[in-house]
Order: sequence, then C-alpha cells, then structure tokens
Amino acid sequence: MNALVESRHLEFRRNRKTELSVVIPLYNEYEVIPMMYERLTAVLASLAIPYELVLVDDGSRDGTPTTMSRLADADPNVTAVFLSRNFGKEAALTAGLDHATGDAVIIMDADLQDPPELIPEMLKAWKAGVDVVCMRRRSRSGESWFKRYSAHRYYRVLNAISDVDIPTDTGDFRLLSRKAVNALKQLNERNRYMKGLFAWIGLPTTIIEYDRMPRAAGVTKWDYLSLFNLAFEGITSFSTAPLRLAMGGGLLTALFGILFTLWIVIKALFLGDPVQGYPSLISMITILGGVQLLSIGLLGEYIGKTYYETKQRPVYLVRDVMRRGKSANETAP
Ligand code: UDP
Ligand code: MG
Repeated sequence: MNALVESRHLEFRRNRKTELSVVIPLYNEYEVIPMMYERLTAVLASLAIPYELVLVDDGSRDGTPTTMSRLADADPNVTAVFLSRNFGKEAALTAGLDHATGDAVIIMDADLQDPPELIPEMLKAWKAGVDVVCMRRRSRSGESWFKRYSAHRYYRVLNAISDVDIPTDTGDFRLLSRKAVNALKQLNERNRYMKGLFAWIGLPTTIIEYDRMPRAAGVTKWDYLSLFNLAFEGITSFSTAPLRLAMGGGLLTALFGILFTLWIVIKALFLGDPVQGYPSLISMITILGGVQLLSIGLLGEYIGKTYYETKQRPVYLVRDVMRRGKSANETAP
C-alpha cells in the first residue's frame, strides 16, 4: 500500500514541470553539504514551487559522492551528477546546466558564500521578465585584501580589453532563464570561462547586490596560481589584445633598434668613435631574444587553445546520474 502511494507520489512529481533548478558544483565539500542542504531546502520549500537540486560531484576524493547519493536516495528533489574525475568548476557547472530541467536555473557555490536566502529575490527579478539575474558582491568578507584588490583590478582590465562586457565584481552566483541556459548550451567551446560565456549571451539582465559571506566550512579550492591561471584563461579566451600588445612591443623594439643602429653609424662615421661591439651586442641580443620568446609564448598560448578546440573532446564525462533515487548509468554527456 505504501509503495503504491509512493509511486503515485513519484508519478505526480514526474508530471509536474520543474520550475526552479539549483545547480551546485562540489569538489571535496564533504563538511558543508549537510549545512548547505538544510539551509537551501528550507528556502526552497518555503517557495512552494516544484524545484530540483542538481548537485554535481567534480571528482571529489572525500565523502562528497557518498553523501550526495544518500541525499538523492532520500529526497526526490535531488539530482546527483557524478563526473568521472575532477574537471574543474567550469566543467562541473556545464554538466549541472546540461542536467538541469527547470524554467529558471540558479547557480551557486556549495560553501554558502552565496546565501540561499537571496533566492526568492532572484526569482522575483526573473518573474519581472529578465533572463539573467546577476549577483554583485557588495563586500567580500573572509577574503584577504590582496584577493579582493586583485579581483577588483582584474575585472576592470578584462573589461577594457575584451570583446564582451563582463559585469564587475560578479561571480558565478546567478539566475538564468531557460532561454539563457539554452543559449549557453550552444557555446560548446572547450575553454569554458563561464563569466565570459555568461556575458557573451547578452539577454536582458538585472544586477542585485549582496554581501559575500565567508566560507561556512572547509577550505577554498583555489590557490593564487590557479586563480592566476583562471584570470589568464579569461583574458586569452575573450580577447586577442595580448597579441596586439606583443605586436606593439615588437614595433617599439624594432624602432629602438633602428635608432640605436643609426646612432652607432653616425658615431663611427662622424665622431670617429670605433664601435665597441660586445656590450651593446649582448644587450641587444638578450632584449630582442626576450621579447621574441615572450611573443612566441603568447602566440603559442592562442595556438594551444586552437589545438584543444579542434580535438572536440567533451567538456566533461559523467560517471553516473541519480534522479529520483534511481541511478541511470550514463556514459556520455
Ligand atoms: N569547485 C569545483 N571543482 C573544482 C574547484 C571548485 O566544482 O575543481 C567548486 C567548489 O566545490 C565550490 C565552488 O566550486 O562549490 C567554489 O569553490 P571555492 O569556494 O573553493 O572557491 P572560492 O569561493 O574560494 O573562490
Ligand atoms: Mg567559496
């Protein structure tokens, strides 16, 4: 009898259209999951709309996958996507967006730095008719001044040189309408700099300001090197300005070389000053060599990007998906 009631209940759920999906990428977030789940479901349940929670395990090496399957077993609103290994946050987000079925999709971090209590406000903005609700950090507590300062400067530089307008001080925390998600799905590039992709699609956008909380538990997955890499990735994915900069640098060095040569010739012909080769030669060679290597390296960066794109590998690989307590062993996204 109970099984019958349960299956009816499931059937009923299946027929309801999911209105809101919340996508959360998780990488070794074992400690925060219970807290996150509790706070999030409290907010979502109060909305009284059909929702789903899409948790994406990005190849965690701690108890994250087991905790996720337990949640997916117990709660029919939880969809758990397990990637085959750690692909990085951007890929995990892409996987989450691909598996989300809601009319609106909210993306947030697992660590409660993005407060779930803002969800009703985001939904209200979406219902007012925009496709993207961007969350802008008014403050970032719990982060070092260096991180704050560099993030602040970085967005400004990126905006100045890139082809798209990326709103400053916004992270990945945002709401996307179905239209925006479908638009994002069409961008199937492998180098996924999400903030840039979000900006590229355009569509009507509003910005809501909020205070960024410190991490609820666990540690950040980013060290300065990976942040630098992400920053560099952002610039090279959305702008060819560095190439032009290299060209400008080359032009300047060439100009300097010509002037320097002229000066040596004039000195030798008119002032009778015999050319003293060695020091000037060495300095010219090292300067030129440095500039050339730098430019070639930069060029290589773009060529490398092209190389990765031409391989057309999938952005991520799914190991398993659990939906309404059932595992569907998928092998490809
Ligand atoms: N994350 C991920 N894959 C990774 C690194 C991070 O899915 O390779 C997730 C992580 O679990 C968290 C979100 O991305 O939900 C943001 O990570 P974190 O809080 O460490 O970054 P920060 O807030 O310090 O920038
Ligand atoms: Mg965080």
